[in-house]
Amino acid sequence: MKILVTGGAGFIGSALVRFLINNTSCDVVNVDKLTYAGNLDSLSSVSASSRYFFEKVDICDSIALKAVFVKHAPDVVMHLAAESHVDRSIDGPSQFIQTNIVGTYCLLEVVREYWHALPLIRKGAFRFHHISTDEVYGDLTHPDDFSGTLPLFTETTSYAPSSPYSASKASSDHLVRAWMRTYGLPVVVTNCSNNYGPYHFPEKLIPLVILNALEGKSLPVYGSGDQIRDWLFVDDHAKALFCVVTKGTVGETYNIGGHNEKRNIEVVESICSILDEVKPKTEGSYKDQIVYVADRPGHDRRYAIDATKISRELGWTPEETFMTGLRKTVAWYLENKSWWHRVRTGEYQGTRLGLGENS
Ligand code: NAD
Repeated sequence: MKILVTGGAGFIGSALVRFLINNTSCDVVNVDKLTYAGNLDSLSSVSASSRYFFEKVDICDSIALKAVFVKHAPDVVMHLAAESHVDRSIDGPSQFIQTNIVGTYCLLEVVREYWHALPLIRKGAFRFHHISTDEVYGDLTHPDDFSGTLPLFTETTSYAPSSPYSASKASSDHLVRAWMRTYGLPVVVTNCSNNYGPYHFPEKLIPLVILNALEGKSLPVYGSGDQIRDWLFVDDHAKALFCVVTKGTVGETYNIGGHNEKRNIEVVESICSILDEVKPKTEGSYKDQIVYVADRPGHDRRYAIDATKISRELGWTPEETFMTGLRKTVAWYLENKSWWHRVRTGEYQGTRLGLGENS
Protein backbone atom coordinates (compact mmCIF):
# COMPACT_ATOMS: atom_id res chain seq x y z
CA MET A 1 0.00 0.00 0.00
CA LYS A 2 1.29 3.48 -0.86
CA ILE A 3 0.18 6.20 1.56
CA LEU A 4 0.43 9.88 0.68
CA VAL A 5 0.77 11.87 3.92
CA THR A 6 0.34 15.64 3.80
CA GLY A 7 2.16 17.58 6.52
CA GLY A 8 4.52 14.67 7.18
CA ALA A 9 7.31 17.00 8.34
CA GLY A 10 5.19 18.39 11.19
CA PHE A 11 4.84 17.11 14.72
CA ILE A 12 2.11 14.49 14.26
CA GLY A 13 2.85 13.89 10.57
CA SER A 14 6.47 12.99 11.30
CA ALA A 15 5.39 10.60 14.08
CA LEU A 16 3.02 8.99 11.60
CA VAL A 17 5.69 8.70 8.88
CA ARG A 18 8.17 7.18 11.35
CA PHE A 19 5.48 4.73 12.49
CA LEU A 20 4.57 3.73 8.92
CA ILE A 21 8.18 3.19 7.86
CA ASN A 22 9.23 1.39 11.05
CA ASN A 23 6.12 -0.73 11.71
CA THR A 24 4.41 -1.42 8.38
CA SER A 25 5.43 -2.38 4.85
CA CYS A 26 3.70 0.68 3.33
CA ASP A 27 5.43 3.11 0.99
CA VAL A 28 5.09 6.69 2.23
CA VAL A 29 4.98 9.86 0.14
CA ASN A 30 5.40 12.92 2.34
CA VAL A 31 3.90 16.07 0.77
CA ASP A 32 4.90 19.11 2.78
CA LYS A 33 5.44 22.80 2.05
CA LEU A 34 7.97 23.05 4.92
CA THR A 35 6.54 26.05 6.71
CA TYR A 36 8.17 27.16 9.99
CA ALA A 37 6.50 24.08 11.56
CA GLY A 38 7.84 21.55 9.06
CA ASN A 39 11.19 20.03 9.94
CA LEU A 40 12.90 17.31 7.92
CA ASP A 41 15.28 16.68 10.85
CA SER A 42 12.33 14.92 12.50
CA LEU A 43 12.47 12.32 9.72
CA SER A 44 16.22 11.71 9.64
CA SER A 45 15.78 8.22 11.16
CA VAL A 46 13.61 7.05 8.23
CA SER A 47 14.44 9.29 5.28
CA ALA A 48 17.02 6.86 3.87
CA SER A 49 14.38 4.13 3.53
CA SER A 50 13.64 3.03 -0.03
CA ARG A 51 9.93 3.19 0.94
CA TYR A 52 10.06 6.90 1.81
CA PHE A 53 9.56 9.73 -0.72
CA PHE A 54 9.47 13.47 -0.11
CA GLU A 55 7.75 16.13 -2.24
CA LYS A 56 8.07 19.78 -1.23
CA VAL A 57 4.65 20.97 -2.36
CA ASP A 58 2.06 23.44 -1.09
CA ILE A 59 -1.39 21.80 -0.89
CA CYS A 60 -2.84 25.04 -2.32
CA ASP A 61 -0.87 24.44 -5.54
CA SER A 62 -3.24 22.19 -7.53
CA ILE A 63 -0.90 21.77 -10.50
CA ALA A 64 2.02 20.59 -8.38
CA LEU A 65 -0.33 18.34 -6.39
CA LYS A 66 -1.68 16.72 -9.56
CA ALA A 67 1.88 15.96 -10.68
CA VAL A 68 2.56 14.26 -7.32
CA PHE A 69 -0.51 12.04 -7.74
CA VAL A 70 0.50 11.12 -11.30
CA LYS A 71 4.07 10.34 -10.20
CA HIS A 72 3.28 8.30 -7.07
CA ALA A 73 -0.25 6.90 -7.64
CA PRO A 74 -1.11 6.51 -3.92
CA ASP A 75 -3.72 4.08 -2.56
CA VAL A 76 -4.53 6.22 0.45
CA VAL A 77 -4.26 9.90 1.43
CA MET A 78 -3.80 10.92 5.06
CA HIS A 79 -4.26 14.68 5.28
CA LEU A 80 -2.49 16.39 8.17
CA ALA A 81 -1.03 19.53 6.54
CA ALA A 82 -2.39 22.56 8.36
CA GLU A 83 -1.55 25.71 10.22
CA SER A 84 -2.00 24.47 13.77
CA HIS A 85 -1.19 27.11 16.39
CA VAL A 86 -4.16 28.97 17.88
CA ASP A 87 -2.10 31.99 18.98
CA ARG A 88 -0.82 32.46 15.45
CA SER A 89 -4.38 32.19 14.13
CA ILE A 90 -5.43 35.02 16.44
CA ASP A 91 -2.57 37.25 15.30
CA GLY A 92 -2.99 36.38 11.60
CA PRO A 93 -5.96 34.26 10.51
CA SER A 94 -5.28 34.60 6.78
CA GLN A 95 -2.78 31.72 6.43
CA PHE A 96 -5.17 29.47 8.39
CA ILE A 97 -8.00 30.18 5.96
CA GLN A 98 -5.61 29.63 3.06
CA THR A 99 -4.03 26.34 4.10
CA ASN A 100 -6.72 24.75 6.24
CA ILE A 101 -9.74 25.64 4.10
CA VAL A 102 -8.52 26.53 0.59
CA GLY A 103 -5.69 23.97 0.78
CA THR A 104 -8.07 21.20 1.84
CA TYR A 105 -10.42 22.21 -0.98
CA CYS A 106 -7.57 22.08 -3.56
CA LEU A 107 -6.46 18.69 -2.26
CA LEU A 108 -10.02 17.33 -2.33
CA GLU A 109 -10.47 18.42 -5.93
CA VAL A 110 -7.19 16.85 -7.05
CA VAL A 111 -8.03 13.68 -5.13
CA ARG A 112 -11.54 13.56 -6.59
CA GLU A 113 -10.24 13.68 -10.16
CA TYR A 114 -7.49 11.15 -9.37
CA TRP A 115 -9.88 8.77 -7.56
CA HIS A 116 -12.48 9.02 -10.30
CA ALA A 117 -9.96 7.79 -12.89
CA LEU A 118 -8.72 4.82 -10.83
CA PRO A 119 -9.51 1.29 -12.00
CA LEU A 120 -12.55 -0.13 -10.18
CA ILE A 121 -10.64 -2.43 -7.85
CA ARG A 122 -8.31 0.38 -6.64
CA LYS A 123 -11.17 2.84 -6.50
CA GLY A 124 -13.05 0.72 -3.97
CA ALA A 125 -10.03 0.38 -1.69
CA PHE A 126 -9.04 4.05 -1.86
CA ARG A 127 -9.36 6.17 1.33
CA PHE A 128 -9.10 9.87 2.05
CA HIS A 129 -8.39 10.24 5.77
CA HIS A 130 -8.86 13.75 7.13
CA ILE A 131 -7.06 14.40 10.42
CA SER A 132 -8.75 16.99 12.60
CA THR A 133 -9.03 18.26 16.14
CA ASP A 134 -11.41 18.14 19.09
CA GLU A 135 -11.29 21.96 19.11
CA VAL A 136 -14.02 21.97 16.41
CA TYR A 137 -16.50 21.08 19.18
CA GLY A 138 -15.74 24.31 21.06
CA ASP A 139 -15.86 24.78 24.78
CA LEU A 140 -17.21 21.95 26.92
CA THR A 141 -17.75 24.25 29.88
CA HIS A 142 -20.17 27.09 30.15
CA PRO A 143 -18.07 30.10 31.26
CA ASP A 144 -19.80 30.10 34.67
CA ASP A 145 -19.92 26.35 35.18
CA PHE A 146 -16.86 24.65 36.63
CA SER A 147 -18.66 21.50 37.74
CA GLY A 148 -17.21 19.53 34.83
CA THR A 149 -20.41 17.51 34.53
CA LEU A 150 -21.20 18.19 30.87
CA PRO A 151 -20.97 15.09 28.64
CA LEU A 152 -17.71 14.52 26.77
CA PHE A 153 -17.37 15.25 23.03
CA THR A 154 -18.72 12.39 20.95
CA GLU A 155 -18.73 12.03 17.17
CA THR A 156 -22.23 13.58 17.08
CA THR A 157 -21.48 16.64 19.23
CA SER A 158 -22.41 19.84 17.35
CA TYR A 159 -19.59 21.98 16.03
CA ALA A 160 -19.00 25.29 17.87
CA PRO A 161 -15.42 26.41 17.14
CA SER A 162 -14.08 29.42 19.05
CA SER A 163 -10.80 30.44 17.39
CA PRO A 164 -9.80 31.16 13.78
CA TYR A 165 -7.78 27.91 13.95
CA SER A 166 -10.65 25.71 15.12
CA ALA A 167 -13.12 27.44 12.76
CA SER A 168 -10.80 26.74 9.82
CA LYS A 169 -10.44 23.09 10.85
CA ALA A 170 -14.22 22.81 11.28
CA SER A 171 -14.65 24.20 7.75
CA SER A 172 -12.24 21.64 6.37
CA ASP A 173 -14.12 18.83 8.15
CA HIS A 174 -17.36 20.01 6.50
CA LEU A 175 -15.71 20.14 3.07
CA VAL A 176 -14.38 16.60 3.42
CA ARG A 177 -17.80 15.23 4.46
CA ALA A 178 -19.48 17.15 1.63
CA TRP A 179 -17.06 15.60 -0.92
CA MET A 180 -18.14 12.20 0.33
CA ARG A 181 -21.86 12.95 0.30
CA THR A 182 -21.85 14.80 -3.02
CA TYR A 183 -19.16 12.99 -5.02
CA GLY A 184 -18.94 9.65 -3.21
CA LEU A 185 -15.28 10.10 -2.24
CA PRO A 186 -14.48 7.39 0.35
CA VAL A 187 -13.46 9.42 3.40
CA VAL A 188 -12.84 8.82 7.08
CA VAL A 189 -12.44 11.66 9.58
CA THR A 190 -10.72 11.66 12.96
CA ASN A 191 -10.92 14.35 15.64
CA CYS A 192 -8.20 14.10 18.24
CA SER A 193 -7.37 15.75 21.53
CA ASN A 194 -4.10 17.56 22.39
CA ASN A 195 -1.00 15.64 21.39
CA TYR A 196 2.39 15.76 23.08
CA GLY A 197 5.68 13.90 22.70
CA PRO A 198 9.07 14.04 20.96
CA TYR A 199 9.74 16.45 18.06
CA HIS A 200 7.00 18.86 19.22
CA PHE A 201 7.61 22.42 18.04
CA PRO A 202 8.56 24.43 21.13
CA GLU A 203 5.82 27.04 20.80
CA LYS A 204 3.36 24.48 22.20
CA LEU A 205 2.77 24.13 25.94
CA ILE A 206 4.69 20.99 26.92
CA PRO A 207 7.94 21.48 24.96
CA LEU A 208 7.90 25.20 25.75
CA VAL A 209 7.68 24.53 29.46
CA ILE A 210 10.40 21.85 29.37
CA LEU A 211 12.83 24.07 27.48
CA ASN A 212 12.05 27.29 29.35
CA ALA A 213 12.51 25.41 32.61
CA LEU A 214 15.90 24.07 31.53
CA GLU A 215 16.99 27.53 30.37
CA GLY A 216 15.96 29.18 33.67
CA LYS A 217 13.23 31.22 31.94
CA SER A 218 9.72 31.92 33.22
CA LEU A 219 7.02 29.27 32.71
CA PRO A 220 4.04 31.31 31.53
CA VAL A 221 0.56 29.99 32.33
CA TYR A 222 -2.54 31.56 30.80
CA GLY A 223 -5.08 32.99 33.29
CA SER A 224 -5.28 30.83 36.39
CA GLY A 225 -4.16 27.72 34.50
CA ASP A 226 -7.43 25.89 35.05
CA GLN A 227 -8.16 25.24 31.36
CA ILE A 228 -8.69 21.50 30.94
CA ARG A 229 -7.35 19.52 28.00
CA ASP A 230 -7.26 15.81 27.22
CA TRP A 231 -3.71 14.72 26.37
CA LEU A 232 -2.59 11.95 24.02
CA PHE A 233 0.98 10.75 23.45
CA VAL A 234 1.77 11.36 19.78
CA ASP A 235 2.86 7.77 19.02
CA ASP A 236 -0.51 6.56 20.32
CA HIS A 237 -2.14 8.98 17.87
CA ALA A 238 -0.04 7.63 14.98
CA LYS A 239 -1.19 4.08 15.83
CA ALA A 240 -4.81 5.23 16.04
CA LEU A 241 -4.57 6.89 12.61
CA PHE A 242 -3.19 3.73 11.01
CA CYS A 243 -5.92 1.71 12.72
CA VAL A 244 -8.64 4.02 11.35
CA VAL A 245 -7.27 4.20 7.82
CA THR A 246 -6.93 0.43 7.56
CA LYS A 247 -9.97 -0.72 9.58
CA GLY A 248 -12.34 2.25 9.79
CA THR A 249 -15.67 2.34 7.98
CA VAL A 250 -16.00 4.75 5.07
CA GLY A 251 -18.04 7.81 5.96
CA GLU A 252 -17.46 7.43 9.69
CA THR A 253 -15.86 9.83 12.15
CA TYR A 254 -13.75 8.56 15.05
CA ASN A 255 -12.83 10.64 18.08
CA ILE A 256 -9.35 9.90 19.41
CA GLY A 257 -8.40 10.77 22.98
CA GLY A 258 -6.06 9.78 25.76
CA HIS A 259 -8.41 9.58 28.78
CA ASN A 260 -6.03 12.09 30.34
CA GLU A 261 -7.92 15.22 31.30
CA LYS A 262 -5.56 17.65 33.01
CA ARG A 263 -5.68 21.30 34.00
CA ASN A 264 -2.89 23.29 32.33
CA ILE A 265 -1.36 24.16 35.69
CA GLU A 266 -1.24 20.42 36.54
CA VAL A 267 0.61 19.78 33.27
CA VAL A 268 3.17 22.48 34.04
CA GLU A 269 3.62 21.30 37.63
CA SER A 270 4.03 17.67 36.50
CA ILE A 271 6.82 18.68 34.11
CA CYS A 272 8.50 20.61 36.93
CA SER A 273 8.24 17.59 39.26
CA ILE A 274 9.82 15.26 36.68
CA LEU A 275 12.62 17.76 36.02
CA ASP A 276 13.15 18.25 39.77
CA GLU A 277 13.71 14.48 39.92
CA VAL A 278 15.81 13.86 36.81
CA LYS A 279 17.69 17.16 36.52
CA PRO A 280 17.46 18.95 39.87
CA LYS A 281 18.35 22.63 40.13
CA THR A 282 21.12 23.60 42.49
CA GLU A 283 18.52 25.50 44.52
CA GLY A 284 14.72 25.34 44.71
CA SER A 285 12.19 23.81 42.31
CA TYR A 286 11.40 24.47 38.66
CA LYS A 287 7.93 25.39 39.95
CA ASP A 288 9.46 28.66 41.22
CA GLN A 289 9.68 29.74 37.55
CA ILE A 290 5.88 29.58 37.00
CA VAL A 291 4.26 32.95 36.21
CA TYR A 292 0.60 33.67 35.45
CA VAL A 293 -0.10 35.86 32.42
CA ALA A 294 -3.21 37.45 30.87
CA ASP A 295 -5.51 34.87 29.31
CA ARG A 296 -5.76 34.27 25.57
CA PRO A 297 -8.80 35.91 23.88
CA GLY A 298 -11.70 33.47 23.42
CA HIS A 299 -9.85 30.77 25.36
CA ASP A 300 -11.91 27.58 25.69
CA ARG A 301 -12.06 26.25 29.25
CA ARG A 302 -12.38 22.55 28.63
CA TYR A 303 -12.06 20.00 25.85
CA ALA A 304 -12.61 16.32 26.59
CA ILE A 305 -13.01 13.47 24.17
CA ASP A 306 -15.15 10.37 24.46
CA ALA A 307 -13.04 7.81 22.57
CA THR A 308 -15.40 4.89 23.16
CA LYS A 309 -16.27 4.39 19.49
CA ILE A 310 -12.72 3.81 18.19
CA SER A 311 -12.02 1.52 21.11
CA ARG A 312 -15.26 -0.48 20.75
CA GLU A 313 -15.32 -0.71 16.94
CA LEU A 314 -11.63 -0.78 16.00
CA GLY A 315 -9.97 -2.04 19.20
CA TRP A 316 -7.64 0.95 19.63
CA THR A 317 -6.72 2.22 23.10
CA PRO A 318 -3.80 4.43 24.09
CA GLU A 319 -0.75 2.65 25.49
CA GLU A 320 0.70 5.56 27.46
CA THR A 321 -0.74 7.14 30.58
CA PHE A 322 -0.12 10.87 30.92
CA MET A 323 2.78 10.36 33.33
CA THR A 324 4.52 7.59 31.34
CA GLY A 325 4.22 9.65 28.16
CA LEU A 326 5.35 12.82 29.89
CA ARG A 327 8.41 11.10 31.34
CA LYS A 328 9.35 9.82 27.86
CA THR A 329 8.85 13.32 26.45
CA VAL A 330 11.00 15.05 29.06
CA ALA A 331 13.71 12.41 28.57
CA TRP A 332 13.61 12.94 24.80
CA TYR A 333 14.09 16.72 25.11
CA LEU A 334 16.98 16.19 27.53
CA GLU A 335 18.64 13.81 25.06
CA ASN A 336 17.95 15.72 21.82
CA LYS A 337 19.25 19.23 22.34
CA SER A 338 20.62 19.38 18.78
CA TRP A 339 17.07 19.00 17.37
CA TRP A 340 15.39 21.66 19.50
CA HIS A 341 18.32 24.08 19.54
CA ARG A 342 18.07 24.48 15.75
CA VAL A 343 14.30 24.88 15.97
CA ARG A 344 14.43 27.28 18.86
CA THR A 345 16.84 29.67 17.19
CA GLY A 346 14.48 30.00 14.18
CA GLU A 347 11.56 32.32 13.43
CA TYR A 348 9.46 33.45 16.37
CA GLN A 349 7.19 36.48 16.28
CA GLY A 350 3.97 37.93 17.71
CA THR A 351 3.04 39.30 21.10
CA ARG A 352 1.13 36.29 22.36
CA LEU A 353 3.37 33.70 20.76
CA GLY A 354 5.49 31.65 23.07
CA LEU A 355 3.14 31.58 26.05
CA GLY A 356 2.43 28.01 25.21
CA GLU A 357 -0.81 26.24 24.47
CA ASN A 358 -0.98 23.07 22.54
CA SER A 359 -2.55 24.41 19.42
P1 NAD B 1 2.30 21.05 12.75
O1 NAD B 1 2.02 22.52 12.72
O2 NAD B 1 3.37 20.54 13.64
O3 NAD B 1 2.64 20.53 11.28
C1 NAD B 1 1.94 20.94 10.13
C2 NAD B 1 2.72 20.50 8.91
O4 NAD B 1 1.98 20.90 7.75
C3 NAD B 1 4.10 21.14 8.80
O5 NAD B 1 5.06 20.18 8.43
C4 NAD B 1 3.94 22.18 7.71
O6 NAD B 1 5.13 22.44 6.98
C5 NAD B 1 2.86 21.52 6.84
N1 NAD B 1 2.11 22.51 6.07
C6 NAD B 1 1.53 23.65 6.52
N2 NAD B 1 0.94 24.31 5.51
C7 NAD B 1 1.11 23.54 4.40
C8 NAD B 1 0.71 23.68 3.04
N3 NAD B 1 0.02 24.74 2.63
N4 NAD B 1 1.04 22.70 2.17
C9 NAD B 1 1.76 21.62 2.58
N5 NAD B 1 2.18 21.45 3.85
C10 NAD B 1 1.86 22.40 4.74
O7 NAD B 1 0.90 20.38 13.08
P2 NAD B 1 0.60 19.08 13.95
O8 NAD B 1 0.52 19.45 15.38
O9 NAD B 1 1.52 17.99 13.53
O10 NAD B 1 -0.88 18.77 13.46
C11 NAD B 1 -1.10 17.97 12.28
C12 NAD B 1 -2.59 17.87 12.03
O11 NAD B 1 -3.25 17.30 13.16
C13 NAD B 1 -3.26 19.24 11.80
O12 NAD B 1 -4.20 19.09 10.80
C14 NAD B 1 -3.91 19.55 13.13
O13 NAD B 1 -5.04 20.35 12.95
C15 NAD B 1 -4.27 18.17 13.61
N6 NAD B 1 -4.30 18.00 15.08
C16 NAD B 1 -3.29 18.43 15.87
C17 NAD B 1 -3.35 18.22 17.26
C18 NAD B 1 -2.21 18.63 18.17
O14 NAD B 1 -2.34 18.51 19.40
N7 NAD B 1 -1.07 19.06 17.65
C19 NAD B 1 -4.46 17.60 17.82
C20 NAD B 1 -5.49 17.17 16.98
C21 NAD B 1 -5.41 17.37 15.61
